[in-house]
Amino acid sequence: MTWKTHAAFGLTAISAPSFIALKNKPELYGDFLALNSNVIDKFHGEPIFFIFTLMFFSWLGSFVPDLDHEGSYISKRLKLISFFTKYLKHRGSTHSFIVAGLVSFILYFAFMYFELFGLREETYIYFLAFWFGWASHLLSDMLTTSGLKHMFFPLFSTEKGKTIIPKIFTINTNSAQEFAIYLFPLICFNIFFVFYLIDIK
Ligand SMILES: [Zn+2]
Repeated sequence: MTWKTHAAFGLTAISAPSFIALKNKPELYGDFLALNSNVIDKFHGEPIFFIFTLMFFSWLGSFVPDLDHEGSYISKRLKLISFFTKYLKHRGSTHSFIVAGLVSFILYFAFMYFELFGLREETYIYFLAFWFGWASHLLSDMLTTSGLKHMFFPLFSTEKGKTIIPKIFTINTNSAQEFAIYLFPLICFNIFFVFYLIDIK
């Protein structure tokens, strides 16, 4: 899949549940703010800025797996990291939900420990969003014909690529079907955004 499709899924992966949660259970956000006074200062009590920040982290996470491919959008931009990661097998270890979780946890721990950007305990929510974006990349790759073999690496891998829809409905990268799939999260995002804005207080 192309980076645009992954970015679209990454943005929607976190925004859709956030908009739904805020709309239906605003107290969740209140509880979260009460627990994390740091966040209140940063977002001036505005939930929408908080959601945009979560979307930014999810968007970043959606690019990371393709660091294992020299020609990918992210590899061309993060040359220093991709210098090492380009030697990894494409759709191998970086395309694992477990590796995604471990990397997100390590980043969370580093940010929390060193208080980078003034972030402390509440940082976990950003790296959870980062993991969501990464996971959305893996799920969308599992819509393609070749699927994924290493999504549970290092626990186990499968011989054949696994998909989340029947093989007959899977799509090829850069095809007309991919364009249709690309539009899907964008439409969802807009619907949820409008739905959220309709009676925002
Ligand atoms: Zn990929």
